[in-house]
Amino acid sequence: MTPYDDSPAQAVSTAPRTPASSLIDGFGRAVTYLRVSVTDRCDLRCVYCMAEHMTFLPKAEVLTLEELDRVASAFVGLGVRKLRLTGGEPLVRKGFMGLVESLSRHLRSGDLDELTLTTNGTQLAPHAAELARHGVRRINVSLDTLKPDLFRALTRGGDVAQVVAGIDAALKAGLQVKINTVALKHDNAREIPDLIRWAHARGCDLTLIETMPLGEVDQDRTDQFLSLVDVRRDLASFWTLNDISDATGGPARYVRIAETGGRLGLITPLSNHFCDTCNRVRLTCTGTLHTCLGRDDARDLRAVIRSGASDVELTEAIFAALESKPKGHDFQIAAPRPAVARHMSTTGG
Ligand code: SAM
Ligand code: SF4
Repeated sequence: MTPYDDSPAQAVSTAPRTPASSLIDGFGRAVTYLRVSVTDRCDLRCVYCMAEHMTFLPKAEVLTLEELDRVASAFVGLGVRKLRLTGGEPLVRKGFMGLVESLSRHLRSGDLDELTLTTNGTQLAPHAAELARHGVRRINVSLDTLKPDLFRALTRGGDVAQVVAGIDAALKAGLQVKINTVALKHDNAREIPDLIRWAHARGCDLTLIETMPLGEVDQDRTDQFLSLVDVRRDLASFWTLNDISDATGGPARYVRIAETGGRLGLITPLSNHFCDTCNRVRLTCTGTLHTCLGRDDARDLRAVIRSGASDVELTEAIFAALESKPKGHDFQIAAPRPAVARHMSTTGG
């Protein structure tokens, strides 16, 4: 059996393991979370993420599935406990389910606590049950509006019904679904309470995200920026928001809304820095390791592996990159140019 065929996965081990990352950065933060962008391509063109006419990377520049597996597995060997596969849109990458199946061996061995993905949901319906079979337990689905016309405009052509069908299929398959919603001043600001009600009624958490200045897009981000400090104040005028202490080390701060019973996450890179507890690094689909989403630091791991490096040499390159992980990002929404030139779809959200 090759790692990339379609054979069914075995049962996932639930044996508890002590997290012990040997990946410690120069500020003493343990890196236990890797996000891997498996493609820069996508079937949507969200206005804050991509330009309408994107030039995608030549295939030769993108890591093969085997290379993605090798680098991700090296991180797991060094103490990463959570892997998130993202993109672009991960489910449009040919052979993606084979990669999920192959990486699920780390769940069975107990070396990995979680294998998950972030998806736009358009292709989720046919794949949800298989993701669950491979040990995926939770996924993030991005959804900024439930209004068909607005969805079509924001994604430049998408069909919201497909995404809702994908979410329903995922829930039916037993996956926990978290909805990610980018807060946009002119487009969905007024719909946010409805989106929260909709998600919570389905038993899904919802996380709001401030727009981040990543890559050139066709519109003015200053104009769309909506501070979640203001959104929270507005929600608190008619709902009871109770802070929940959160030990995930992630950027989201969580509240439980008494009236809906569900959880709301708030990711506020601009109105509140979240760097002190950052436990994550990102691998682009070209094998570039970014230790900070908002800085232009980079280490080319593709060059390392394509030069025939041994696993020890790959590990050394990863350690070297970690030493230069910056203390924090430097986003400013009103800056004349994006904080970093690369799009979120390249880095992996
Ligand atoms: N295509 C998948 C999706 O949309 O879920 C995965 C990749 S997408 C780049 C990951 C997340 O990044 C999405 O939730 C998207 O809304 C978010 N995102 C993209 N560009 C962003 C930006 N400039 N600011 C904030 N969030 C952004
Ligand atoms: Fe595609 Fe996700 Fe970017 Fe939207 S946010 S264009 S779905 S990669």
